[in-house]
Formats: sequence, structure tokens, C-alpha cells
Amino acid sequence: YAKAQGRNRYSFFDPMMQAAAQRRQHLANDLHSALAEQQLRVVYQPIVQLATGRVVKAEALVRWQHPQLGLVSPSEFIPIAEETGLIITIGEWVFLQAVRQVKHWRENYCRDFQISVNKSPIQFQDKNLHYPAWPEQLKKLGLPGQSIVVEITEGLLLETDRFIDDKFMAFRDAGLQVALDDFGTGYSSLAYLKKFDIDYLKIDQSFVRNLTAQSDDKVLCEAIIVMAHKLGIKVIAEGVETEGQCGLLAAMGCDYGQGYWFSKPVAPEVFEGLFGRAFLGDR
Ligand code: C2E
Ligand code: MG
Ligand code: MG
Ligand code: MG
Repeated sequence: YAKAQGRNRYSFFDPMMQAAAQRRQHLANDLHSALAEQQLRVVYQPIVQLATGRVVKAEALVRWQHPQLGLVSPSEFIPIAEETGLIITIGEWVFLQAVRQVKHWRENYCRDFQISVNKSPIQFQDKNLHYPAWPEQLKKLGLPGQSIVVEITEGLLLETDRFIDDKFMAFRDAGLQVALDDFGTGYSSLAYLKKFDIDYLKIDQSFVRNLTAQSDDKVLCEAIIVMAHKLGIKVIAEGVETEGQCGLLAAMGCDYGQGYWFSKPVAPEVFEGLFGRAFLGDR
């Protein structure tokens, strides 16, 4: 038994895990200066209204161009940012970019355009007000609350902190909208849909990836859409990559689609070229 344990302990230091730990440490160190060194930027992915094919919303997604390691995925550095607390500064910065962008786009391209911003549970827990609250920043720029959709994950809804409930309510009172991201991957307790007043539900891409006319995933998507609609919640399907998926979702009454079929996340200048377009079947 001792021997087996010893072996396990030894395996913890195997070269691959050591390399991974070193990369993580390297990223954690460099992330501190990434903002100041202007290595972060925000890209935008269109969210298309399936009934009209129009781009009516965008999701803001952060990118990190590391000077030596190249482009580092947010799936890799956001967890590090959460652990180190850097998510607070980074998250506020992303929000500010998104707010300026939505102001420009509402004024020049699409009057009721919305940008959605991901907000980590850690950001909700932050009790030091280093920054004016999001509703205040919108007000300062003369923007209505519904210019911004806050994307949260089920992880947040598991928290039972009064403080978080209050923050959530403050968003609602200011008119900001709320989307439940990656729906179907976590606990997916239906009680959360009742506890909080949610505007959008984002069906996770794992249900869309293998979506075909005969699939179980189709049954699940259909059930989610019907349930959401009965609760007055609009549905956004994530990870739409094919015309077939897009057609099935539209036929099921899904309100919005997001995915490579329409466009990858792009720089703002590129995004502006999408406003006049209609993404209909013939794409
Ligand atoms: P998410 O919020 O669920 O964002 C959707 C992810 O799916 C994005 O990955 C997007 O590029 C990707 N995606 C979109 N369409 C398709 C498709 O058709 N096929 C496939 N395979 N993927 C698609 P990305 O940009 O790498 O971001 C990953 C995750 O990192 C996000 O997942 C979100 O949880 C987190 N993240 C990104 N930006 C931020 C941020 O500013 N703040 C916070 N807190 N988290 C962020
Ligand atoms: Mg999201
Ligand atoms: Mg998602
Ligand atoms: Mg995700």
C-alpha cells in the first residue's frame, strides 16, 4: 500500500505535469502585466436572430496575445485570473471596452444593439468597490441598461450569498439583462430558472454539436426551447457550425444562434461589415 502511494506521489512530478505546472506559473506571473502591456484585446462574435437572419447582438470575448507563447485561450487564462484575483481588473476592463463599443454601434449601426459580457462568480463576490458599478457606468455614458447582457454560469446560482442576490437585483433594477451561459452542462437545476429572473438561456454547444433531425440532442434542444419560452425566456443556441444545425434550430423556434456558421469572434472593424447582412438559409 505504501509502495502504491509512493508511486502515485512520484507520478505527480512526472515531466508532463511538471511542464503544465510551469506553464501555469509562467502565465500567472505574466498575466499581472498583460493589461498594462496592452496584450489583451476584445473580440466580438455575432448573435443572429434566426427568424430574420439579422445580427442583433454580440458576445464580447477576451483574447491574450502573449509575447512569447502567442495567443493564449481564455479557457486557459480565465481560470488563472480567477485564482489570482486578476479577473476583477480584467473583467472591469473588458466591460469598459464593451460599453464603449455598444455605444458606438447603437449610435451608428443598430439602435437597440446589445453586447453580452461574461461575468465570473468571483467578480460578483468582490466586495471592494474599486470601480463604479456597471449600471452607473452605463448611466454615465448615457446608455440604457438593456445595452448590456450579463452572462453568468450556473456556478453563480449555487452561491447562497445575500450580497450576490443584491448585486443581481441591482442589475435587474437598472434594466441590464441576464443570460444563463452553457445551459445544460452544470447542475442545470430548474430551480435556478425560478430563483432568478433570467432573460436568455444559452444552450451549450455540446447539445448543438451533434444536432441532427433524428438525434436525442434535438429532443433535448426542443424541450429546453419550449420550457424557456413558457417561462418567458429567450433562447440562444451556442456553437452553431453548420447550415443543418441552423435550420433545425430555427424550425424548433430557437430565437438566436451564435457560432462559426455565422462568424468566428472578430475584431470590431471586421464586425462592422456584418451589420448590413442577413444570414439566411443560402449562406
Ligand atoms: P463562453 O462564454 O461559453 O463563450 C463561447 C465560446 O465558444 C467562445 O470561446 C467562442 O469563441 C466559442 N465558439 C463560438 N462559436 C463556436 C463554434 O461554432 N464552435 C466552437 N467549437 N466554438 C465556438 P472562447 O472565446 O475561447 O472563450 C472560452 C470561454 O472563456 C468563454 O466561454 C467564457 O467562459 C470565457 N471567457 C471569454 N472571455 C471572457 C471574459 O471577458 N470574462 C470572463 N469571465 N470569461 C470569459
Ligand atoms: Mg459566454
Ligand atoms: Mg457558453
Ligand atoms: Mg463556457
